[in-house]
Amino acid sequence: MTEAYEENAWKNVRFRPARVARPETVDDVKAIVSEARATGQKVKAVGGRHSMNHAFRTEGILVDLSKMRRTLFLDKENGVVEVEAGCTLGDAVVALAEHKLHFPSLGSWYTQSIAGAIATSTHGSSLAYGSLSDTVLEVEAILADGSVQRFSNGDEAKAMRCHLGRLGILTKVKLQLRSAFSLSCRIQSKSAPEAFQQILDTTRSNDYVSMLWIPDSDRTCTRVLTSGDDGPPNQAAMDLEQRYLDRSTLSFRIEDVLFFGLGHLYLAFPKLLSPYYSRRVEEAFCDDDGVIDTSYRVFLYDQYREPTENHRLRMIMNVEYAFDVAQLKLLLNELRTRLADLREQRHYLNYPRVHVRFAKKSDATLVGLNTDRDTAYVGIYVVGSVRHKSQIPIAEAIEEIFLRFGGRPHWGKYRYLTHSYEAYSGLERFEIVRRALDPEDMFSEEADMFQGLDRFERAPLGAMLRSACDPDEYQEIKCLKRFVS
Ligand SMILES: Cc1cc2nc3c(=O)[nH]c(=O)nc-3n(C[C@H](O)[C@H](O)[C@H](O)COP(=O)(O)OP(=O)(O)OC[C@H]3O[C@@H](n4cnc5c(N)ncnc54)[C@H](O)[C@@H]3O)c2cc1C
Repeated sequence: MTEAYEENAWKNVRFRPARVARPETVDDVKAIVSEARATGQKVKAVGGRHSMNHAFRTEGILVDLSKMRRTLFLDKENGVVEVEAGCTLGDAVVALAEHKLHFPSLGSWYTQSIAGAIATSTHGSSLAYGSLSDTVLEVEAILADGSVQRFSNGDEAKAMRCHLGRLGILTKVKLQLRSAFSLSCRIQSKSAPEAFQQILDTTRSNDYVSMLWIPDSDRTCTRVLTSGDDGPPNQAAMDLEQRYLDRSTLSFRIEDVLFFGLGHLYLAFPKLLSPYYSRRVEEAFCDDDGVIDTSYRVFLYDQYREPTENHRLRMIMNVEYAFDVAQLKLLLNELRTRLADLREQRHYLNYPRVHVRFAKKSDATLVGLNTDRDTAYVGIYVVGSVRHKSQIPIAEAIEEIFLRFGGRPHWGKYRYLTHSYEAYSGLERFEIVRRALDPEDMFSEEADMFQGLDRFERAPLGAMLRSACDPDEYQEIKCLKRFVS
């Protein structure tokens, strides 16, 4: 066994693999799989380490694909590209933008690997487009028997497009992109009842729509992005970006420490402080109103508002489920009533926001979050480091509603409640493919990816303080500075 621990980016999962391999070529990956087969070891690949559960945990060989990240093939005319599986979204976005190709839709972070992002059906927010898995035309994978195979049709390809890390080691992914485009952003600020009434119509008649609901103030901000031809950013976009670039990493550290302190204060006096907190959340979400910029920058503007959300001091647990859009209004209304009841009993969420996003229905995957139904994603956030124990009953009450409404838990995020996976109608077909490709379970661990998660019942204060001083801790913010400049 190695001495070193491996952990995910959220720092809530920590384990010791037998060894970590860092292949540079497809032949290297084949050799690792052969070694594992010969020695009877499990194998797990890892990309950006951004999943919040045990998706890549293993006591066998951990295969880190961060050295396999090149763009290999480009058919600019048809928007088709092939990248190595360890290529990050950020790297791909920047490299392909030079060829005037953009991802049709993106989520709110950029350091996930392509293979890792499609593993869990990572999504942005649009009823006109699906998830990243839906952009996949073909994958190349090393299977348990050591063979290299490509998949573009049938159930095997559908399983590979949302593969959960359980089918083999992906080495290449071919994607369908679209021509470069810009986005203009409008923010609509409304009361929750009015917004819940209108959100589906707004989403159906615009390209990219997401909604933030602040339950304590019962206000919502709906972010409406409209696409147009690729053009230069306007002044509002440049000002927003400049404000971000002007910030020092010290200011992020101070903000994190203050957030930690204020978070505790807020939960001590929730009624008194919630109007202030809610106003701040709403202002922060609205600051890109009027922005016009190239598409991927606008998708990633979430980073400007929440640049430190990836860091230990906050340890934000995002619990997100995917629903049939037809259920959304009913679900939000029930959630609203339940959260109001909880507030009456002085139970307040320590990160008071509910995020609603969308994806077009797709038949490209078997267990994707948006498989076979136009999808609304509803997510809550809980800061693991701030009075986490008191948050668990609130999160569980919300998840109980999510499950009752047929929600599919996000494969890459956190869960407080465990239950079966019946909401995934294609799981049986996925299992048939999986057993055929990996009969010895080389790529599957016995424990479920959501079992035994550390629930942070006591905030690890020492670890947080160490992380506030750790020079590496804010590395991703520095990367983002390079990425946007
Ligand atoms: C700050 C932040 C923001 C996020 N925003 C969004 C969002 O907007 N929308 C959304 O849907 N999700 C979001 N997520 C979740 C995230 O996109 C997913 O968890 C995604 O799977 C992470 O990709 P990764 O490369 O980090 O994968 P990892 O966490 O490294 O791995 C995830 C899974 O992929 C497997 N895997 C990785 N590479 C390979 C390979 N080459 N071959 C086989 N299996 C492989 C692993 O074994 C594991 O099972 C966010 C996460 C964070 C931390």
